[in-house]
Amino acid sequence: MPIDAQTQLVGVIGWPVAHSISPAIQNAAFSYAGLNWRYVPLPVHAENLAAAIRGLAALGFRGANITIPHKVDVIPLLDAITESVTVAGAVNTIRIDRNTSLLEGLNTDMGGFLTDLAANKVKIGKDSRAVILGAGGAARAAAAALVRSGAHVYVINRTPGHAEGIVKFVQSSWSQPNIEMVYLENLYEASRGVGLIVNATPVGQWPNVDASPWPEKVPFPEGATIYDMVYRPLKTKFMQDAERAGLRALGGLGMLVYQGAAAYDMWTGKRAPIDVMKVIAMQTLSENAPPNLVGVE
Ligand code: NAP
Repeated sequence: MPIDAQTQLVGVIGWPVAHSISPAIQNAAFSYAGLNWRYVPLPVHAENLAAAIRGLAALGFRGANITIPHKVDVIPLLDAITESVTVAGAVNTIRIDRNTSLLEGLNTDMGGFLTDLAANKVKIGKDSRAVILGAGGAARAAAAALVRSGAHVYVINRTPGHAEGIVKFVQSSWSQPNIEMVYLENLYEASRGVGLIVNATPVGQWPNVDASPWPEKVPFPEGATIYDMVYRPLKTKFMQDAERAGLRALGGLGMLVYQGAAAYDMWTGKRAPIDVMKVIAMQTLSENAPPNLVGVE
């Protein structure tokens, strides 16, 4: 579909964004659905974030994804935020009202994570126990999503104070939140009998593909599912090691696609062609093998 005066614009704001695969995924989805929409990478340095956000509405953009490092700093620049942002503490999607030009911040990472778990038949409920490795934005979204679903969550991070920060943040949102910080040296004890282990660190992400967030000397808990938010490579060392130990391993591509699909739904008011998005995501990752792709979503 040609670009013309009717073309509706969305994009991804981050620094850097050149290697994001979201433009490939979203543009393929628009094209498949016959929508005259385009999704563009928008590299914006921190000092220009406020001007860029104001400019989105002025330029008639319908919305944007927000990625590293702006997911938290963008919050005060918006007119409204949804409950998902309050819960996750970060914005990854902006929707712009066509009539009022008001900007609403949402978080689709949390939903994307839960939708992918559900799609893979990983059940989370009040009897579930989960370990989260990491204490950044992705860990916070995962912790909020799992606690909200009833699970008991252990947060483990190389900087314990950051894990403590997540615990305090999540505890402030619920009256009896099941979340605690565990020191890395107690990983073995904390992980016995857990059903889910989530890697929310970039450890193992290309180019450091020989690294794993799981210490070699700690045996994996029997019967657990591991979920690696890293999706580049599609199968990380963490996933390979877990599979070798008889565990089920899921990579982060599904989460990436579902969070993108949720943004597509909100911008266009139509259901995203998820299967097309998954195929394009896998194709883009395997065709544009490293060293061309180094970014994060
Ligand atoms: P972030 O805010 O920078 O947080 C990274 C966390 O990982 C921090 O807690 C950090 O520890 C820890 N970490 C970093 N390097 C480490 C190392 N070498 N050893 C041990 N811990 C380390 O990043 P984020 O936004 O949470 O993203 C984390 C990962 O999730 C990235 O790979 C990102 O691409 C991925 N992700 C995937 C999706 C998806 O859709 N699949 C969505 C969001 C994020 P400190 O606290 O000590 O600094």
